[in-house]
Amino acid sequence: MYSGITMSLFRLPEGFIEWRLDMPGPVNILNEQAIREWAEALDILEQTREIRGLVITSGKNSFIAGADIKSFPAIFSGSEKNVEQWAAHCQKLCNRIEMLPFPSVVAIERFALGGGLEFALSADYRVITNGSRLALPEVTLGLCPGWGGSVRLSRLIGLDAALTYIVGGMTIDSGAAVFLCLADLAVNSEDLLSESMALLKSRARSNSLWEGRRELKRAPIQAYSIKHTDGDPVQGSAFQAPAEIRRLVLTNASESFDEALRAEGELFAKLAKRPEARNLVGLFIAEQAMKKRSARCVTAWPKVDVGGVVGAGVMGGGIAYQMATNGLKVVLKDIAQKALDLGIDTIETYLSKQTKRGKLTAFEAETALAKINSTLDDAQISQCQVVIEAVAEKVEIKSAVLSALEGKLPKGAILSSNTSTISINTLAKNLSRPENFCGIHFFNPVPAMSLVEVVRGEKTSDETISRAVAFAAAIGKSPIVVNDGAGFYVNRILFPYFNAFNLLLNAGVGFYRIDRVMERFGWPMGPAALADVIGLDILVHADTVLQDAFPERMRHQAPMIAEKLLSAGLLGKKSGSGFYNYTVGFLDANQKLPSLKAEVYASGAIAEHEISDQEIIDRLMIPMCLEAARCLADNTILSAEDADLAAVMGIGFPRFRGGPLGYIKSVGTEVFIQTALSLRCLGPLYQVDSSLSVLRDHG
Ligand code: NAD
Repeated sequence: MYSGITMSLFRLPEGFIEWRLDMPGPVNILNEQAIREWAEALDILEQTREIRGLVITSGKNSFIAGADIKSFPAIFSGSEKNVEQWAAHCQKLCNRIEMLPFPSVVAIERFALGGGLEFALSADYRVITNGSRLALPEVTLGLCPGWGGSVRLSRLIGLDAALTYIVGGMTIDSGAAVFLCLADLAVNSEDLLSESMALLKSRARSNSLWEGRRELKRAPIQAYSIKHTDGDPVQGSAFQAPAEIRRLVLTNASESFDEALRAEGELFAKLAKRPEARNLVGLFIAEQAMKKRSARCVTAWPKVDVGGVVGAGVMGGGIAYQMATNGLKVVLKDIAQKALDLGIDTIETYLSKQTKRGKLTAFEAETALAKINSTLDDAQISQCQVVIEAVAEKVEIKSAVLSALEGKLPKGAILSSNTSTISINTLAKNLSRPENFCGIHFFNPVPAMSLVEVVRGEKTSDETISRAVAFAAAIGKSPIVVNDGAGFYVNRILFPYFNAFNLLLNAGVGFYRIDRVMERFGWPMGPAALADVIGLDILVHADTVLQDAFPERMRHQAPMIAEKLLSAGLLGKKSGSGFYNYTVGFLDANQKLPSLKAEVYASGAIAEHEISDQEIIDRLMIPMCLEAARCLADNTILSAEDADLAAVMGIGFPRFRGGPLGYIKSVGTEVFIQTALSLRCLGPLYQVDSSLSVLRDHG
């Protein structure tokens, strides 16, 4: 009947039609071509007489992954009106499915996401496979559904549930989908087509069955009461999309179907033009590109079966856990039995947390633990294809350990260091095969932090970088390649931020206020809480390395408060006290009170009205963003996309703010420069230089 590049129509016996979506590539994505063919297929369906019913299927082992997000920047670069028209066009296509003069059933295998679920919602019935995931996750891109999804879902499953799933962007599993009447049946994969056909045939017998259903789906919601839902936006959050989407869904509940669609399209276009959506869409695309690059490396090299970790401390334990839970055998080596025992304790704690959260079964946890061979003996290192050194952060110790390891490793194996501050070139000096050596820099806590910086030294070979990327991706991490230099990329941009924080403290602004301001700005925690989590000893040490490397702008202009706390024996969260106290009996794990010592050094001497929240934000953000631009200009980080993504994944930079370079663009480069210039009296951290011009070269 119809055969396009992305979809086809086939006649089935007894007057039924199959509409099969089968797009080039591994999954179905509703791109420009698919949208064009969607309209053509509908033309034929609308013109063909005596069709008894339609079953919509996928030629893949999944239904539709969503709209083509890669095309969003181009679509959103048009005027708001144009974006609204684009949404209205796709809304109309969904309406046309819904208005076909015969019943329709969608057969959903594994997932229908975003535009894919909106497409599926326009059919009369949905049959899904057990274990399927359905979602309208547009909010994670700073958008609302734009093809009628928010209207249809709330009318179908009720307002409370719809708010949870639309405002929270959460996934609806197959059980919930059936319970909420979003799906009519959940079946085994092999029965999907037969069950879908059986349902279609039974409903095609009488028009009243499916026509009544359509009316219900399009009618305003009659009576409702709203409870607190999981998707409720965070009060006072600077990320406004969730609250606006919530208002849209609530207002639309009592509106006519057409008016509700119009309002949805209008909000979609409004949100699409915001910096938040541009940032979130940009980061999504950057993340996909990073995953593709990593996947290419994974397929290019043989799988690593045995990995070595030397140093069973905080990081070594975490790295060994990460490797073992991803199926590798691990040789975990230390110099003292006590240290090894501590490393195994760390691993067991991670495993038991994951088991309690239902992420691992007890059997999987035991299997992972059994893969770790803890040893004081170097000999077993000879079995490893990759070794990560994670001993104390001292050049002499690391150099000695790396030289000894190199002698034990099989030829061609990768030797790496998890150092956070020492130059890879320095560590490579005494190695006889520096081409096989690189940095593989994990972040603490290893299981929670997805970023890994793969650090290229002057002599590191392309093959070593590619294999290190493959290794990091194979153990579930997100590798970003950076060039060698003090602090690499992530710490190099983080420490100017801490330095600016210290300046603010010395100017008399209380750390408690600074933390609240930065949390409202979007950071998961403010700089004082972050310093406590990193550990004040580690912070002060890394800070010294960066001051030495970039004295002209990173040398402190004022006494370092973190150092004073450290001298008083406060190490941060791990010792129970730092800027905050973590051991007060009546507080839970996430609550904290300012510590007495920090109150003495940095409680805040100036009144709130003397410095605005915006100035606090500018004074902290500008040094970090300027340093990110410098890293891009001097090739420490290879692209603006990597710079933003690494900051989001490595230090929790607020995603909707786009990363440091995305943030400069959101503020407006000229406005950003003017603000930095207005603060230049504060010192060289605020110095604008030619590096900002790289942003123009990188679009
Ligand atoms: P740690 O002090 O907790 O552990 C170091 C371990 O190395 C100890 O168990 C020690 O016994 C062992 N060790 C010392 N000399 C050894 C040798 N010759 N052979 C084998 N083992 C030896 O340190 P950590 O916090 O896990 O840091 C380890 C590395 O990771 C450092 O380079 C650090 O800069 C880096 N790093 C740390 C963090 C962090 O937040 N802790 C984050 C990223 C990177």
